Amino acid sequence: MAQRNAAPAPTLPLGRRPPRFRFFLNPYVHARFATCPQCNGETSERKLPLVIHVEPRHLLALNMTCRFCERCDLLIAHQDELESLLAAYFSERDPDAVGNDYLVAGTMDHADWERGLRGSPALQDVLDQLHEFAEEAWFEPAPRATRGARAARTRTARRAPRHGEVQERLEERQRVPLRLRPTFDAIVERTDAVCREHLNHEYARLCRRLAAALCRKRPSPVTRGKPEGWAGGIAYAIGAVNFLFDKSQTPHHKASDLCKLFGVRPATGAARASEIRKLFGMYPFDPVWCLPSLLDENPLVWMIEVNGIPFDARYAPLEVQEEALRRGLIPYLPKPPAIR
Ligand SMILES: [Zn+2]
Repeated sequence: MAQRNAAPAPTLPLGRRPPRFRFFLNPYVHARFATCPQCNGETSERKLPLVIHVEPRHLLALNMTCRFCERCDLLIAHQDELESLLAAYFSERDPDAVGNDYLVAGTMDHADWERGLRGSPALQDVLDQLHEFAEEAWFEPAPRATRGARAARTRTARRAPRHGEVQERLEERQRVPLRLRPTFDAIVERTDAVCREHLNHEYARLCRRLAAALCRKRPSPVTRGKPEGWAGGIAYAIGAVNFLFDKSQTPHHKASDLCKLFGVRPATGAARASEIRKLFGMYPFDPVWCLPSLLDENPLVWMIEVNGIPFDARYAPLEVQEEALRRGLIPYLPKPPAIR
């Protein structure tokens, strides 16, 4: 079933008209939401002017056909359609703005929009006529149409997202530049699915964090190649830090099997992983990319210097540990490890 999660509405009031609609910018090209992701009722078409701010200084209204659920007051615009309208608009007027970050700020009444077409409305006019969205919503697409009963059974047997997973993904997504959010979604959809089935939620969380960090790199490498390659490379890189390929670990997988789970060739997965590890300077037991459950055992996390001498903080007196914690040198007060 589709998941929903709402982000808080923007805090700065821009529009002078009362806010309306809950808004979902749908990034999934395969989900068109003919049924409402919230109430499962049929959605209808609604064409209305969306007010969009495009970096660095464009404010425009595009009359666009959206899906609408009256019962949930939910307006859904398909991101791919919106972006092709934007590209068409700017390729004539300002080709430099094609592909720039943008924000759908709200909607406008038809009458205002038509009046605006006749003249060239000032920025203030547009803001005066703007209805911001009451809320931004977020949904996961329902599973795709089945190819037969057997396919449906396998699909329903799959594990549902863990409680909080959707929220975590949304939070990570907000740290990704707008332009790369569809790519981020495509990558994380895959890492989440594989981690849910074959790894664990700690891996899922680190993969999401790494995917977002990759999207923030300038220039970001994820703009080339396929999302499954990056998804596999991300899991591979996180796995390498955390000894996923070591049989003594739980969970563990062979590197080639991990790549197979993402549907990529081992050579591709390894190449992407090596690129990622180089980009972030990742190494085995790297505290930045270490699973929380491995932190206890990770000697690199606990090495501090006392008077210039490296020292394992797990064995240090409590007051030294407290001081190290205060200075942010260790993540928490450790339990002393068992002597082996
Ligand atoms: Zn609904």
